[in-house]
Amino acid sequence: MNPTNHRERHVLRVVGLVQGVGFRPHVHALATRLGLTGSVQNRTGDVWIEIEGDPRTLAEFTVQLERTPPPLAHIKSLERTRVPPQHDASFTIHASLGDATHPGEIPPDIATCPACLRELRDPNDRRHGHPFINCTDCGPRLTIIKNLPYDRERTTMAGFAMCPRCRAEYDDPSNRRFHAQPVACPDCGPTLRLTDNHGTTLAGDPIPELARRLAAGAIATIKGIGGYHLACDATDEQTVQRLRILKHRDEKPFAIMVRDLTAAESLAHLDDAARSSLTAPARPILLAPRRDSTSIAASVAPDTDLLGLLFPYTPIHHQLLALTGPLVMTSGNLSDEPIVHLDDEAITKLGTIADVFLVHDRPIVAACEDSVVRFAADGPILLRRARGHAPLSEPLPIPLRVPTLAVGGQLKSVFALGRGATATLSPHLGDLDAAPAHAAFLIMVERFEQLLRIHPACIVHDLHPDYAPTRYALERAASDGVPLLAVQHHHAHMAACMAEHGLREPVIGVTFDGLGYGDDGTLWGGEFLVGDLATVRRAAHLAPIGMPGGGAALREPRRMAIAWLLAAGVDLHDNPFSRGLPRPFLALIEQLITRKINTPTTTSIGRLFDAVAALNGVCNHTSFEGQAAMRLESLAAQSPDELGYPVDLVHSSDTLVLDPRPLIRAVVADRTAGIAPTRIARRFHTALVDAVVATCTVLREATGLTRVVLSGGVFNNAILACETPAALARAGFTAHRHRRIPPGDGGLALGQLAVAAARQAR
Ligand code: ZN
Ligand code: ZN
Ligand code: FE
Repeated sequence: MNPTNHRERHVLRVVGLVQGVGFRPHVHALATRLGLTGSVQNRTGDVWIEIEGDPRTLAEFTVQLERTPPPLAHIKSLERTRVPPQHDASFTIHASLGDATHPGEIPPDIATCPACLRELRDPNDRRHGHPFINCTDCGPRLTIIKNLPYDRERTTMAGFAMCPRCRAEYDDPSNRRFHAQPVACPDCGPTLRLTDNHGTTLAGDPIPELARRLAAGAIATIKGIGGYHLACDATDEQTVQRLRILKHRDEKPFAIMVRDLTAAESLAHLDDAARSSLTAPARPILLAPRRDSTSIAASVAPDTDLLGLLFPYTPIHHQLLALTGPLVMTSGNLSDEPIVHLDDEAITKLGTIADVFLVHDRPIVAACEDSVVRFAADGPILLRRARGHAPLSEPLPIPLRVPTLAVGGQLKSVFALGRGATATLSPHLGDLDAAPAHAAFLIMVERFEQLLRIHPACIVHDLHPDYAPTRYALERAASDGVPLLAVQHHHAHMAACMAEHGLREPVIGVTFDGLGYGDDGTLWGGEFLVGDLATVRRAAHLAPIGMPGGGAALREPRRMAIAWLLAAGVDLHDNPFSRGLPRPFLALIEQLITRKINTPTTTSIGRLFDAVAALNGVCNHTSFEGQAAMRLESLAAQSPDELGYPVDLVHSSDTLVLDPRPLIRAVVADRTAGIAPTRIARRFHTALVDAVVATCTVLREATGLTRVVLSGGVFNNAILACETPAALARAGFTAHRHRRIPPGDGGLALGQLAVAAARQAR
């Protein structure tokens, strides 16, 4: 049978992350290999393929395209229509067709790919040792894009005119650098420079010279993809301590960049999932259990059994790490400020910290921090969604009626812009307490609106009146004359998990976190909500307790311990915990509580973690959010399974209250009996899992709901993240936890958009 007698022509519309990821050359190569004719074109945000040939080969083409797309592409849908054959002579790539109102997705930055790495190391390749090597599969994207559609003239590479050889590669559809916008080589690309902290260029080959200085104890600033890092020898205790002092960072762990898997495995225990995460194109910081005796300086991560490991993700990192041991690699900033990404700020802000600066002349337009991931026994927990992940879009379960901006929360700030059923999340912007962080938030919102051509016709915010993003939302809505929508913090957490799993039917939402503003103006954080994306009812919560001293209680978990001891009727002066505390301090806290002075009420599970950590003798003071919970988790992880402590469930009008006073008394009894802190920590974790199952079981009886979503920063805890859904499943529930979206406040904006969509639809 002659196949040409049965020619068909199909038009395929491919939707997803399909631009800026080498999709068209991939399609061209596949069609050519299969002997098919037609064309491929970027139109607005999608790729359109016209493909012609015999039906069986056409089917083969579609199968292969869906099964093995280019590594960075995500095909969300593929629509097919049949049109009459046109008998073209070959397969061609057409120029992009733009649409100013629908520019497509913003691709994330991607680590140097294996093919580029081979060229980087090949002495015979013309890009041997070129610190800016990249291709359609790798290199900077978000951080160099000034405008969309994504083309070289709209990136910070516009100032680098391509040399004839790069131009030929860029124009050749069969070349792996076809339309690779940041393509560069030693003849035409950016250049690297090593300077002192006044900006004066230092003699020598920059990377080897930097390696030499790092070995001698220097602190360096290295311009990366999304900003400047501070780096030093991770095995040099004195230098790491010096970096901590200069950066004003007490105990929060530093991440370490390691050369390869051998180096990583000498420092931490890695399983297959951890290994593939370290080497994935997104290259997040991986938190992994550290090995006991390593050469890493004690000050790198003084307070945790986890080590943050990171693989090189730019050619500069690869070349540097080839010459050094493990390097501390931490965001270049002053304490709580955003990561520095502008060249003129680097010297002024980091000049007092770093001795040497490795800089280059490719501008960074958008700051983007490193992503952070850890693994529970049942898979990943994305703690921070930034480089490599953001701004990949997320589908919303219910489409938005109007373009909407969700401003997120105050800490671990992320905002989201939504149009239709698509939500685009900003990278992690850090804590917005400081003015420079807030300024960075404003710049990023404006940038994303411009890139995505979204002019919000609705603005969603948290209920908390003092969050900087809430104030911004109010001002912006007033000046733009657009409607505002306030979403309760824990409803947003629950909705984020529903959105991630495509849920719109009613569920039980278990949201445990540090603090979030409640409907009643108190601080919530141990909530069981029942409802859907549009509305919820607070069906159960942790018993309220006072936080003596307000903000001081956040920094001193022992204050929460005293509050719970008093509530539980434990003798304040006769237990192993209070014996270690000065009497006047105990008396002061007792007074604050009994007289209700500066003692706001909370139902937070995070604060219960604080109390138990202090009672367990492992944390009286903290220097960063979540530190007490982190210590308790790492103790629990060292203990075998234990029975959980008792928590009472009390009916109070139409809500259930989880009363942890029996748990508090049991912790004190165990401590008095000399039970190991690891076992106490373990029993506490089991108690929380048991309490969730018991509460959900009562709520199931009342509502008939069997689906549960788990959200909130407490589920950054790998034991709870893994064991809670497993225990719920054993009890007959279908439970979901976060996987692609951070459980903490980094997920709020997605939830806010999902709630907005549901309310707009009513
Ligand atoms: Zn590459
Ligand atoms: Zn060139
Ligand atoms: Fe929260």
